[in-house]
Amino acid sequence: MTLILSKLKSHVRDTVGEGLRLCGLSSPSIWARDRLTIATFHRVLPRELLEHYPLPAIAVTPEELDHFLAVFQEHYTVGSLQETAQLLASASHDGKPPLAVTFDDGQIDNHQFARPVLRSRGVHASFFVVSEAAEDGELLWHDRMAFAIHHAIGTGAKGLDHWLGELGVAKSAGDPVPLAVTAAKQLTPAERDGLIRRLEQLAGKPVRPDWDGMMNWDQVRELLDDGHEIGSHSARHPILPLVDDDTLEVEVAGSRQRIEAQVQRPVLSFCYPNGDHDDRVVDAVRRAGYSQAVTTLYGINSRQSSPWTLRRVDLQGRYGRNAQGGFASGALLVRLSGRMPGAR
Ligand SMILES: [Zn+2]
Repeated sequence: MTLILSKLKSHVRDTVGEGLRLCGLSSPSIWARDRLTIATFHRVLPRELLEHYPLPAIAVTPEELDHFLAVFQEHYTVGSLQETAQLLASASHDGKPPLAVTFDDGQIDNHQFARPVLRSRGVHASFFVVSEAAEDGELLWHDRMAFAIHHAIGTGAKGLDHWLGELGVAKSAGDPVPLAVTAAKQLTPAERDGLIRRLEQLAGKPVRPDWDGMMNWDQVRELLDDGHEIGSHSARHPILPLVDDDTLEVEVAGSRQRIEAQVQRPVLSFCYPNGDHDDRVVDAVRRAGYSQAVTTLYGINSRQSSPWTLRRVDLQGRYGRNAQGGFASGALLVRLSGRMPGAR
């Protein structure tokens, strides 16, 4: 049923894309004029690793990334968030509309697999790194949890159902990994850490595959040397509206100082972990000296949009493909228009 629905959805997207093209509306030069479009990526994993990654919805393959970049370059002036935000602000810009390429979380695959594709296309991007994770190399909590559950399922570990039940995740509801990660976002950091430790014990160690890890500072500096922007994605990737004032300061201003000390360059862009923000969090980002901040709200930005709550367009591999599974641009352009009905 889910498969049929998803096929139907991609047919609808293809048709909508074709319809827009026939009406002459499929060109971003019309809808994205004087707008800033910001594309979001997370993981970039070759097919053989993607098959072993338990949250595949937040990953694209290098081939898919290359296809996305080719479509971007055809229709947009492509660059990092800082570069394209400046383009939007400059009244003299009369070329193709600006589009920023952003990568969240700072995992090692960004350096290993996204970097060569960006280099071959001559595209600059923004990478949002989690300062403590770059420092100690520990995976972010959603990956730790996902690998632990994935491993526990694989080994048939007893007790998993109990913890999934504690999170309110029913086995019959679908893939329990993303459901459990979503449910765990409601827990306090201490509750979540405790749960992850129990799941890791249940799975047996090690749950982290050899190929995975976080970018270290040397790798982050290599991205900078390539012309990419390094932004902050907080110190530890907590849900910021849930942390106290002192922790918020460490996460927002502290992460900026830590990254700047390592890259010896001003850090001007911030990315809210999980997209979560409220007035208190936005105010902390502004006070810390960032020029702009991105959310996970779907849409594109005008010159009047607040630079502290910029909308983005999250891209998954399926948006670059037609119903037959081949590369296509119609569905992608509809997604990039920021006007896909009901989209998040
Ligand atoms: Zn993140």
